[in-house]
Amino acid sequence: MDQRLITDLKAAIRSIPDYPKPGVVFRDITTLLGDARAFRRAVDELVHPFAGGRVDKVAGIEARGFILGGAIAHQLSSGFVPIRKKGKLPHETVRIAYSLEYGVDEMEIHTDAIGQGERVILVDDLIATGGTAVAATQLLRQMGANIVAACFIIDLPDLGGAKKLRDLGVEVRSLVSFE
Ligand code: AMP
Repeated sequence: MDQRLITDLKAAIRSIPDYPKPGVVFRDITTLLGDARAFRRAVDELVHPFAGGRVDKVAGIEARGFILGGAIAHQLSSGFVPIRKKGKLPHETVRIAYSLEYGVDEMEIHTDAIGQGERVILVDDLIATGGTAVAATQLLRQMGANIVAACFIIDLPDLGGAKKLRDLGVEVRSLVSFE
C-alpha cells in the first residue's frame, strides 16, 4: 500500500488518550469519516482486492462497522447484514457470547441473513484483541458463511487480534496500524 496514503489516513484518525479509561488510546475514526477524501480513499483501498470477485454479503459489526460496511457493500454491489449487540434485532436471531476485557457480552444476527455457502466480508473499524471479530467469525461460520476476508481500517498488532483471525483461516485486511 502507498506510504503516502497510510500517512494521510493516520493523520485523519483522531487519537484520544485515556478514553474510555486510563491507559487506553481511543482511535476515533469520526474525523476520517467526516473527511470526504479520506473516507473515499479508505473505502476504495479496503475493497480494492475484492472488486470484480463475487461477494454476496458484507457483515458489519455494530456500530462503526455499519458505516464502513454499508459503504463497502455499495461499492461491491453486495448485500449488507448487521451484527448487533443482543436485543436489538427484531426477527429470530442466532446469538454468541464473547469475552470483553471485563465480563462478557453477546452479539447476534438474523437467522435468515446469510445463506449456506454465501461469500461474506466481515467489517469493523478496528481490531484489537480480536475478541469481537473472532466471535463474529464463529457466528457467520455457524450460519454457513464462507468468509472471504475481514476488513478493518485500523489494526493494533500488539494486541494480537489479526493473528487470531488468521489462525482461524480468515484473510485479514487493514489499512493502518498503531503500536
Ligand atoms: P477487540 O474485540 O478487542 O478486537 O476490540 C475491537 C472492538 O472494540 C471494535 O469494535 C472497536 O471499535 C473497539 N475498540 C477496541 N479498542 C479500541 C481503541 N483503542 N480505539 C477505538 N475502538 C476500539
